[in-house]
Parts: sequence; structure tokens; C-alpha cells
Amino acid sequence: MEDKHMLMIPGPTPVPEKVLLAMAKRPIGHRSGDFSKIIAEINDNLKWLHQTKNEVLTLNVSGTGAMEAGMINFLSPGDRVLVGVNGKFGDRWAQISETFGLDTVRISAEWGQPLDPGEFQTHLESDSKKEIKAVIITHSETSTGVLNDLETINKHVKAHGEALIIVDAVTSLGAYNVPVDEWGLDVVGSGSQKGYMVPPGLGFLSVSDKAWQAYETCKFPRFYMDLGKYKKANLKASTPFTPPVNLMYGLQISLQMMQREGLEGIFSRHQRLTNMTRAAVKALGLQTFAADEVASTAVTAVTSDTVNTEDIRKIMSSKYGITLAGGQDHLKGKIFRIGHLGFVSDRDMLTGIACLEATLSELGHKIPAQAGVKAAAAQLV
Ligand SMILES: *Cc1c(COP(=O)(O)O)cnc(C)c1O
Repeated sequence: MEDKHMLMIPGPTPVPEKVLLAMAKRPIGHRSGDFSKIIAEINDNLKWLHQTKNEVLTLNVSGTGAMEAGMINFLSPGDRVLVGVNGKFGDRWAQISETFGLDTVRISAEWGQPLDPGEFQTHLESDSKKEIKAVIITHSETSTGVLNDLETINKHVKAHGEALIIVDAVTSLGAYNVPVDEWGLDVVGSGSQKGYMVPPGLGFLSVSDKAWQAYETCKFPRFYMDLGKYKKANLKASTPFTPPVNLMYGLQISLQMMQREGLEGIFSRHQRLTNMTRAAVKALGLQTFAADEVASTAVTAVTSDTVNTEDIRKIMSSKYGITLAGGQDHLKGKIFRIGHLGFVSDRDMLTGIACLEATLSELGHKIPAQAGVKAAAAQLV
């Protein structure tokens, strides 16, 4: 059947009809007063979403572009940085850091395990010369479904006093509490195709006063990615270059929808979807890849000793029109990932689980009747 496809991947995520319709309007001039009003509203609502008074900058990039900009505007070649690496995205930030000639110290954990805050503490406490200029952390590691303990790691960064904390919040912002000002997070990156319920193409960065001080002495060359330009424009409800006008139309509407649901509503819905997914996966005789205590509220990675995870993905797509994500790098073929991020309801989740159950039956996996749906529905009472 046409036009019935359902994305259950951690980005791009499903986009509400209201957002799609808003994007179908004619573009207007990005220097017009009417567009300036849209930017002003978006900027206010981005601050609300980030729980911050910081300027939140909007760039025409995907999440990776936002993170790269967040690294090269506040550091200088040779600066020492600690990078948490326990999955694909942490590894990517370490690669960017190395590419730009930063003195990169990888704090690693096995994929599927959380980062150990104690290791950050040890490095930061022994740095009496204050050579560590930044700690770079992926909050929700999308490749494994692990939520790192950002709050505790950040406490060690604050005790150090000098280092900035640069956070990949791409799949935690809009899915989990990220109180930017309360925690004092310096640079927080995210992207439109994740919790924002908007198609890919926009990257966001919240930047603290402390980071703007570091910006003054930053020695990396940059022009399009010079965040000072974006800040200056933000303060005038403008943009330094031509923004993707139609994506901004969509973002305006999605932020309004998020405001109506409220932060508490958004976080509790994502927690509920996570609980449903994890309960169902276990009831179906599959294993969750990350432990319950460190579960991301955006994505659940699943393994099985008895069923081929690629066969599951194939049937889910061809027979039921549901796209699940596979594993990345060495986890290819070993896990599949269920996205429950953004515009996802309890009903969507029950549908996905019912289809997963039917798929497993078809593959000859022995499961008690309706085990998955029952376990998921039990989370709703
Ligand atoms: C999706 C994602 C990104 C950004 O990836 P892009 O493809 O550049 O948008 C970064 N970090 C995490 C944890 C992600 O899930």
C-alpha cells in the first residue's frame, strides 16, 4: 500500500502533517520583516526547549556539522580535549578532534556500556596545569542506545573549572531532560531530523557565556562556520546567510507543537515509549543491548542469539512497511535498533511491536501468544 510507510529509526524521524504542510508554502525573502518575526519566535522557543537564556544558533547543517562548529569555534590547534567514546558518534567526535589537530584523549568504554564518569574525574583532577580545554560527550549514544551520565561527568568538569563541556544532545534533546542552564552546559548540539520532528537539514547549538569567552581566543580559521556571525545575526532576529526558509516554516510549527505538549509531557512520553519497547523486546525472547539503568529514551538496540536481526529488518520493511535501523560498524548484523524519538505515539509503538511479533513468528521464533503487545500495553495502565 502506498504512502503508509512508518519510520522507526533514530533519525530521520516521522514528521507531523502540520509541519509538512507548513513547509509546502512559498518561500519568502529571508531579509523581510515577516521572516524576521518567524526567526524571533523560533529563537525564543529554542531557548525554551534548551531550558536556557543562552543564544541558540541555527545552522544549515546536519548534527555533525553543528558538532564540528561547536568544536572549532571555542578551541585552538593543540588544545587538549577529553572525548568520550562508547559508540559511533563518540568515535566521530574524536575523529573530528584529531582531524583539526586537537590533542585528543579518548576516554573509551565498550560499545553498549556507558562511559565511566570516574575516568573523567581522574583525568580532570590530575590536570593541575589546566591543560584540558574541553570535555566532549555524546549524551545519548544512538549507535548502541546507551544514555551516558552527563550530569555526573559535567560535575567533574565544573570542579576542574577551566574546561568547557561540549555535548552531543542530538538524540537526547526533546527526548530527555537536558537542563542547559541548571547544569551549566557550554555547547550543546542537536539536529532537526531527531527530536524536533522536522526533516533533516538544520543543526542547532546552544552556547554559554563561558564558551563565548573562549571564542575570543580561538585560532581555528573559519568563515561559513564562524559562530560569531550567527550570534550577531540571532540578536537581530536574522541569519548571516540564506537559511532554508521552508525548513524554518516547519520548525516554527513543530516548536509550537512541542510547547503545547510541554517538556514534562515530552519527556514522560519518551520514557513510556522506552519502557514499552524494552518490556516487549524481553517478553519476545530478544535481548536489549544496553542495560535498563542506562537506556536511551530515543532508541533501543536489540540483539538475539536465535534470530537473524537482518531478517527481522527485511520482513518488517517489506511486509509491514516499517523501517528499523541496523547496527553500525562492527555491530552490523548483530543488532537492530528501534527508534522511538520525536513524533511517536503509544499507538505507533503498539503497532510496531505487533508487527515485530508477527515477524518473529514468521521466522519460526517461539513466543507465547501476544507476549510483546501484552507486555507493552501493561506499561500503559
Ligand atoms: C544523528 C546523530 C548525529 C548527527 O548525525 P547527522 O547525520 O550529521 O545528522 C549526531 N549524534 C548522534 C548521537 C546522532 O544520533
